[in-house]
Amino acid sequence: MLHHGAAWLLLLLSLFQIVLCAEDYYKVLHPHHRPSYMALVDPNANVSLKVLGLKKDATDKQLKSAYRQLSKKFHPDKNPNDETAQAKFVEVSEAYEALSDPESRSIYDKYGHDGLKQRRQGGGGHHDPFDLFSRFFGGGGHYQRGQPRGHNVEVKVGISLRDFYNGRETEFQWDKQHICEECGGSGSADGVVDTCGHCGGHGIRIVKHQLAPGMFQQVQTQCDACGGRGKTIKHKCPACGGARVVRKPTTVSLKVDRGAARDSRVVYENEADASPDYVAGDLVVTLAEKEPELEADNPDHVDGTFFRRKGNDLFWREILSLREAWMGDWSRNLTHLDGHVVRLGRERGQVLQPGHVDTIANEGMPIWHEDGDSVYHTTEFGKLFVEYVVVLPDQLESGMEKDFWALWQKWRGKVGVDLHKDSGRPDLPIPDSAEGKKDEL
Ligand SMILES: [Zn+2]
Ligand SMILES: [Zn+2]
Repeated sequence: MLHHGAAWLLLLLSLFQIVLCAEDYYKVLHPHHRPSYMALVDPNANVSLKVLGLKKDATDKQLKSAYRQLSKKFHPDKNPNDETAQAKFVEVSEAYEALSDPESRSIYDKYGHDGLKQRRQGGGGHHDPFDLFSRFFGGGGHYQRGQPRGHNVEVKVGISLRDFYNGRETEFQWDKQHICEECGGSGSADGVVDTCGHCGGHGIRIVKHQLAPGMFQQVQTQCDACGGRGKTIKHKCPACGGARVVRKPTTVSLKVDRGAARDSRVVYENEADASPDYVAGDLVVTLAEKEPELEADNPDHVDGTFFRRKGNDLFWREILSLREAWMGDWSRNLTHLDGHVVRLGRERGQVLQPGHVDTIANEGMPIWHEDGDSVYHTTEFGKLFVEYVVVLPDQLESGMEKDFWALWQKWRGKVGVDLHKDSGRPDLPIPDSAEGKKDEL
């Protein structure tokens, strides 16, 4: 009988364990439905920093940006049936909460992770990763189908040719709509949101119009008391005035890849205007090429700032004097967009015709590749085309003019070519029979 009892107890215990396991699993997948949620990872900041891939001196901005990226990457809606990603999603939001709370962060800075551990044991540490997600991206914290989605926002950012050539981490600002942090998107100062008394929470009202005695027309209209939301707020949030969202200048960091194409687009998924009513659309940034600003974009005064770009190739116009073009023996140091020097030149005796174009391999734009500057990839470059413009002197010192004249006279007779004779054109204008003998002019 005793054995029997023990067997039952064992069976009961294992059943109990299965229930516990199921509950754990449920917690990972649906923490939304649990009133409180215990941390899965050791909530010390050391681990937290590692989870978010940050260094100890990470700024608030870096912290937010790391959360933005990783939470989207591991969101369960994007990784269905992937438990590792789902656990990672929970881990990332926990790490962010631990680090974004100034109190717990300062405890960590002062007392290290043991201090933080003690604080955790004193309470707190419960949170919902989907709530946190919706505070960043709006909606209900989910991407699922049927969830309304906000508009994409298009932004054009001017990038100098120098930054296209070298690649650059930069930033830009735009007026983004955020979920009001003051009221957490409720619109209410005290957190109280009432069901609208006029429409009973439906957001619509049926209005009866009397057309004639005994004849009515029923018209459905949006409830004007609550604006169709079905909810009213007595004490409006002072920060957003009850609108639940606020628009404010927002800085976004932007990575311009080496050799990125002109007008190429960088998409920030779900980074457009946020709202409690929808999941934020995408912020789409177009990399436009801007005119070079002499002071701001060209501290090293490199010629490359004024290169013109076409695809992967660059174009430049170099001025030569008559002597240089004709006699040779000249050189130029052209400074490229990263400051390196491209040498142009001709030996003595090498004539260069006006309008001639030199094609210089590997001195064009870096050719964009998804591996970029990784050690597994060698960047290739387009061509640089240099067109020569020859400028004739329009004034000569009188002594110099005489010398040149004498020189010409001396050689004209001996080896000069009469281009007019060579052309085979007649010596005199052809007489016009109708008009008589007249010059063209
Ligand atoms: Zn507010
Ligand atoms: Zn109403």
